[in-house]
Amino acid sequence: MGKIIRLDDQLSNKIAAGEVVERPASVVKELVENAIDAHATVIEIEVEEAGLSKIRVMDNGDGIEKDDCINAFHRHATSKIKDENDLFRIQTLGFRGEALPSIASVSHIEMKTSTGDGPGTRMVLVGGQIQTHESYSSRKGTEIIVTNLFFNTPARLKYMKTVHTELGNISDIVNRLALAHPNISFKLSHNGKRLLYTNGQGDVRHVIAAIYGLSVAKKMVPIRIESLDFDINGYISYPEVTRASRNYISTIINGRFIKNYSIVNAILDGYHTLLPVGRYPIAVLVINMDPILVDVNVHPAKLEVRISKEKELYDLITKGIQDAFKKKQLIPELTSSI
Ligand code: ADP
Ligand code: MG
Repeated sequence: MGKIIRLDDQLSNKIAAGEVVERPASVVKELVENAIDAHATVIEIEVEEAGLSKIRVMDNGDGIEKDDCINAFHRHATSKIKDENDLFRIQTLGFRGEALPSIASVSHIEMKTSTGDGPGTRMVLVGGQIQTHESYSSRKGTEIIVTNLFFNTPARLKYMKTVHTELGNISDIVNRLALAHPNISFKLSHNGKRLLYTNGQGDVRHVIAAIYGLSVAKKMVPIRIESLDFDINGYISYPEVTRASRNYISTIINGRFIKNYSIVNAILDGYHTLLPVGRYPIAVLVINMDPILVDVNVHPAKLEVRISKEKELYDLITKGIQDAFKKKQLIPELTSSI
């Protein structure tokens, strides 16, 4: 008899959750990304105790059919890709089919959903085990309530930082999702207090104002750069509007906010000597490219991506920013006599 056994679904989901659901903010990210993929135009996020006691995400998107509700909580079950071909042309934020089963395995979940066709569905799961799966009348869209997060992973729960830190992470993630999707109205509240509202009318400057304040939004320079492979636009702050960390630079590739050291450096290079030492701009750069040029299947949380033609992108961004500042005459043009 061999010694190797196949782990049951519940245990393997719990192992996957270790990577996908690092903290309450990861739950918020996955649920909101699902709402975006479901074509929602309004997304409401309510959290209590920085998400440790409750996370509620409500959307007015496509909803899920009753039978599909069971599949949605199976690992590697997704409606977003079908074959290998799709994997290299990802158009959606999700595709791994891991978030719902992972979250469910370490929390209590209640989901109410309706496709708007016939009655909706209500499901309750505890630690990934389905307790209830019933018809339930609700309006079109999906509402997911996550409570008792990490109730069965005490070490993870203990590792959580203060409410302040965890809430900071949630806020940061929702802000960036809102910047990436100005055509969706986002509401975020914590313990009943409103933290963010965006109107969903499609203007990034409005989202910038909602997050960083009107005075910052008024001090932004528009950026627009096009090449054969890349279409880049966004806003960068005047050099006098700076912050003490790089955290205020948001990079969005094909609707997904990502962390990329090279792009941040390209932006900073564009400012060259205009920034005081140790100070960083506020920037939102929206980059669109053929999905074939970007590999998002690098990390379970999909925060990192691999970009082909990264050097070309770097140079484009740096030059585009320099040109924008030249137009504003913040960088003097070289005259032919020099
Ligand atoms: P993925 O997003 O990678 O497909 P998830 O585990 O996050 O995997 O979700 C599984 C499936 O459940 C999705 O593919 C989608 O069909 C469905 N789903 C999840 N959340 C929603 C939602 N808010 N609205 C509509 N469908 C959803
Ligand atoms: Mg998902």
